[in-house]
Amino acid sequence: MRLRDCFSRTYAQARDRFSEAARAAGLATVPFAHPTHRGVQDEELAMDVVWAGPREASQMVLLTSGVHGAEGFCGAGAQVAILDDALLLQDCADAGVGLLLVHAVNPYGFSWLRRVNEDNVDLNRNFMDFTAALPYNAGYAELAPLLLPDAWPPSEEVETALSNAVAARGMRWYQAAISAGQYHDPAGMFYGGRVASWSNYTLRRILARYGAGRASLRWIDLHTGLGPWGYGERIHMGPGDADALARTRAVWGEEVTSMEDGTSVSAPLHGLVWHAVPDTLAGIDYAGIALEFGTLPMPDVLRALRGDHWLHRHPDADNTQRALIRDAMWQAFYGDADDWRENVVEQTKAAVRAAIAGAFPAGGGAQPGRAS
Ligand SMILES: [Zn+2]
Repeated sequence: MRLRDCFSRTYAQARDRFSEAARAAGLATVPFAHPTHRGVQDEELAMDVVWAGPREASQMVLLTSGVHGAEGFCGAGAQVAILDDALLLQDCADAGVGLLLVHAVNPYGFSWLRRVNEDNVDLNRNFMDFTAALPYNAGYAELAPLLLPDAWPPSEEVETALSNAVAARGMRWYQAAISAGQYHDPAGMFYGGRVASWSNYTLRRILARYGAGRASLRWIDLHTGLGPWGYGERIHMGPGDADALARTRAVWGEEVTSMEDGTSVSAPLHGLVWHAVPDTLAGIDYAGIALEFGTLPMPDVLRALRGDHWLHRHPDADNTQRALIRDAMWQAFYGDADDWRENVVEQTKAAVRAAIAGAFPAGGGAQPGRAS
């Protein structure tokens, strides 16, 4: 298959290509259909799952796409390229490792070209303990009127006020204030929700069904929108302690960055998807990364997200406005060029190979768990 044919322009096309690539590899796709929502072309929405390799494998590698919906165009393309790579699948099976591909964790956002889901929830802020008090993001509350002004595009006054706030408090503060997640404004940006979303509990069901009884899990969660064009940053995705980071680096190398110690392009975040692991597969030997592919400079990406949320709050916007905002989202979360696609596929395959090689627990050791 030609590389560019692995990638798609719509969610529906991506879903077809994923199932078709699985069928061609002799594998079955198991759909978990969305119970309430349809896609932008009125198509069915689902999380689709493919298992490759020995059923009884004690080691499992998980590759997920579209936790942030619009980023699924990247992740789904890489998943199709992997299903199309007979040698990689054979090497995985020969190693005795099972490979679980989950297509479109957030199918609604994938289809509608939004980062968030059907409830305006950022899934990667939604894996919280909702029985406990939720954190209050004062920085976000302060910036919200400037981030999402009444008019779009924002006026010069708004942009100047925003630049002044960033200049006064620093870029790191700004990034954390916006992206750390907030739990008080359901129509705002990076909203983590008040309950576990459909994608949250469906992903937990999938983890429990496919992961129960296995000894180890290595998880690669595909993302876009931060960092240099086409470069895949391997960001530690697990507990914040030094031992957990060391386990992740043992699998994916010393270049693995961490949000906790400031080596990553990403700020520290709440409610990340990996929290599903200790909740559903207690005691499993776990290591994971977010593989984050850069697209445009950060201010452009943030502006695209601000526009998307503005549109969500102004459903009566005209079609020209709508098209401009959607195009900005497309460009912010997908590098529509052959060099970018090649980089994505090459680096995703390298990360999967590293996960297969590092799938076996290193000498027992401490069990990972959610820090309490
Ligand atoms: Zn993302």
